[in-house]
Amino acid sequence: IFILAVESSCDDTSAAVFENEKKLSNVTATQKVHEAYGGVVPELASRAHQQHIVPVIHEALRQANVKMSQLDAVAFTKGPGLMGSLLVGNAFMKSLALSLNIPLIGVNHMQGHILAHFIKDEVQQKAPNFPFLGITISGGHTQIVKVNSYFDMQIIGETLDDAIGEAFDKCGKMFGLNYPAGPEIDRLAKSGNPLKYKFAKPQVKGLDFSFSGLKTSVLYFLQKQLKENPDFIQQNIEDLCASFQHAAVQILLDKIKKASQLTGIKTIAIGGGVSANSGIREALKSQSKQQQWEVFIPSFEYCTDNAAMIAIVAYFKYLEHQFSDLSITAKARLNLTDN
Ligand code: ATP
Ligand code: FE
Repeated sequence: IFILAVESSCDDTSAAVFENEKKLSNVTATQKVHEAYGGVVPELASRAHQQHIVPVIHEALRQANVKMSQLDAVAFTKGPGLMGSLLVGNAFMKSLALSLNIPLIGVNHMQGHILAHFIKDEVQQKAPNFPFLGITISGGHTQIVKVNSYFDMQIIGETLDDAIGEAFDKCGKMFGLNYPAGPEIDRLAKSGNPLKYKFAKPQVKGLDFSFSGLKTSVLYFLQKQLKENPDFIQQNIEDLCASFQHAAVQILLDKIKKASQLTGIKTIAIGGGVSANSGIREALKSQSKQQQWEVFIPSFEYCTDNAAMIAIVAYFKYLEHQFSDLSITAKARLNLTDN
């Protein structure tokens, strides 16, 4: 089965070609236009998708060495995400399905982040066994999901306010870093002291999270320091990044431990843009020994938004004949459990 998938939920235009669960290509065009604005500008994002979608699809097919006429289905992200961005992929792939006369498959982006572990390539061969705890940590979500099978998922904990990626980006902005600040914090944290500054840890019941408290704690701390020393941030940027990252990782780890204890599940699979973070990767690897967890971390390529994760979900949907008809609409808000 050959599937072409497109992901266009936010600011990256991505296309992937799969043969069954195997990735043949995964091509992503990132949008630079947003950097100057400190965040994604929706109108600019949808225009850039329109410019990128044709060349990105052509390149994905070329790298895969697959012709349009060989495709068995086409897939796209139906939500959640920015409406204008989603619409570009939606309209384009509908037309493609119609003109090729092959099935169309709408995919939930958040299911993509979780099922990215099932993508097969030269590096990534082993997938988690069910049931596992899918930890989605991204720019818009922070969720602990009990994954019983490909399409049977249950959210058992989530953030009550900001997503963890949002906390990285917003605190990074306070540190004077460019958007998205997550990767930059990660890089700077490597040469900083994670125990230099202590930020207040939120007290949230059960398996839910709060990251806005951490952000406020960082803000008050900086305001106080800057009064005494206007150059405080520049002089301590590495320690600030390391300490912030350490706090965020601890908040996350606490809840994962709790979730594992409550459910008895020891297979932990992280996904989403923030799972690219080296602090989180290292912490999970070391915990896996202590807690006897089997930890799954996707290749970098499949952490941030990419079409490969859309293609893998589409493949599983194809097997179950879960096809979409041409009336399918883009959904800016879409729950994880909406297929
Ligand atoms: P969602 O998937 O919830 O709709 P999104 O698609 O915008 O949101 P992703 O692309 O999955 O989110 O992830 C983007 C986020 O990941 C950004 O907040 C970015 O700062 C963060 N991020 C990327 N790399 C790293 C890293 N190395 N360390 C920390 N955060 C990172
Ligand atoms: Fe995402």
